[in-house]
Amino acid sequence: MITIEYNDEAFEYDAYALCRSFYPGEETEQRFMGEDAGCDSIRIFSDMEKRFVKLVIKAGEVLDHDFERELSCPDADEREFKWKWKLFFYDCMSEYTGRTLPWGALTGVRPIKLIGGIMNEQGREGLEDFLNDEYRVSRKKAELGIRISKNESALLKPYEYKGHSLYIGIPFCPSRCLYCSFLSYDYGKMKKHVAEYLECVEKELKAYVEIMGEKPSTVYIGGGTPTALNAAELDELLSMAEEYADAANTDEFTVEAGRPDSLDDEKFRVMKAHGVSRISVNPQTFKEDTLELIGRKHSVADVEKAFVAAREAGFDNINMDLILGLPGENAEDVRRTLDRAAELNPDSLTVHSLALKRSSKMTQWIAEHGAISGMDHDAAMEYALKTAESLKMEPYYLYRQKNIAGALENTGFAAEGKYGIYNILIMEEVQSIYAIGAGTVSKRVNQGDGSAVEITRCDTHKDLSLYLSDIQAMIERKRRLFGATD
Ligand code: SF4
Repeated sequence: MITIEYNDEAFEYDAYALCRSFYPGEETEQRFMGEDAGCDSIRIFSDMEKRFVKLVIKAGEVLDHDFERELSCPDADEREFKWKWKLFFYDCMSEYTGRTLPWGALTGVRPIKLIGGIMNEQGREGLEDFLNDEYRVSRKKAELGIRISKNESALLKPYEYKGHSLYIGIPFCPSRCLYCSFLSYDYGKMKKHVAEYLECVEKELKAYVEIMGEKPSTVYIGGGTPTALNAAELDELLSMAEEYADAANTDEFTVEAGRPDSLDDEKFRVMKAHGVSRISVNPQTFKEDTLELIGRKHSVADVEKAFVAAREAGFDNINMDLILGLPGENAEDVRRTLDRAAELNPDSLTVHSLALKRSSKMTQWIAEHGAISGMDHDAAMEYALKTAESLKMEPYYLYRQKNIAGALENTGFAAEGKYGIYNILIMEEVQSIYAIGAGTVSKRVNQGDGSAVEITRCDTHKDLSLYLSDIQAMIERKRRLFGATD
């Protein structure tokens, strides 16, 4: 285990995030500076007033040699010092380990937002060099980031700081995946609550019409797995989306049909009848043993069957989610997964690098079984990019998560005209999102006077029974957020 000791909380997040990226899978503890640092410790003393920082690494079982460095930049202002501190810490860790990270010292989840901002300010010329020099971003990732930023900004233009999108969360799934950190109740066990849940969704939708008073740009029904509902319940839900949000006539009407074990011909017919324009059928992997291990309760053949049925039902915009770095998988497994996905020829691919979340069962699994994948994540991601390009897809959105495999990213690729607009909107925060359902977060994005963008949020209870019993309060939160009065 590595212990990070600090004397200034301002740097706690970055030190922890970067240390975890340089030492993935290693347990890392943080604490306020004490008397004795002990072995396997990284001690960071910072003096904000003097703009000084000293880093001391004490070797142990994980850290293999002692190390000391100092940084002094008395002329830096506070903001500058904070950035210099971060770069200093990154450079020290890079020198110490002899490694670099693909996204360098960037620890945020939205690198494209940052790249887009820089591009707007100083233009495209020399941007790779700038990202490399100032943020230590690798050339490959700088190029990818710039490419995505350009694609995104063209797609986002019609939505920037106007209108809103609607999200409806359905927190039920056929079973819980090992890596899941989302709100997800077992449909079989919670079935008796579904009717009441849909009643609450309808109450929310009625209030939504009053509060927003205009049609959404896009509608996304996610979760959970909305198609975990039976065909009649799904029909009821989609009828509501049509009645209250005219979902079929928006720019994009997506239903996350993620789990092949939740799909059948009847549900595809229901979705088609209600004008759903985009669905997601998510294999995650095409390796049978892994599917079983991660608790998906469906086979590779089920994925293929669901995909073919979706095409036969007339869906011409089908996304596939894949995860690279699942337990026990090597580079060859990942290549096979990408090749089989390509054979099915989806319209878009969302390629995730596995992220370890504390709330997932995966954390427990790793504690029992040890490290999960020794593969070269960077090479796997490269292969994903090549596969997408062979399908004539462009990368069009990207985000990162904490504790993400290989310190990499999640990337959305799509063929021309098959983009998931909602996905970019939620990530780049250029449009308000009105979110309905348990455990959802609504976001108001405001740039009324054209100056600084202001983002405010409100959430709903994650606990299902609390959400059901407190529905009026959930609605009132949104009424306040979006500035509507009774
Ligand atoms: S399908 Fe998605 S939401 Fe449901 S358990 Fe699996 S990861 Fe979680």
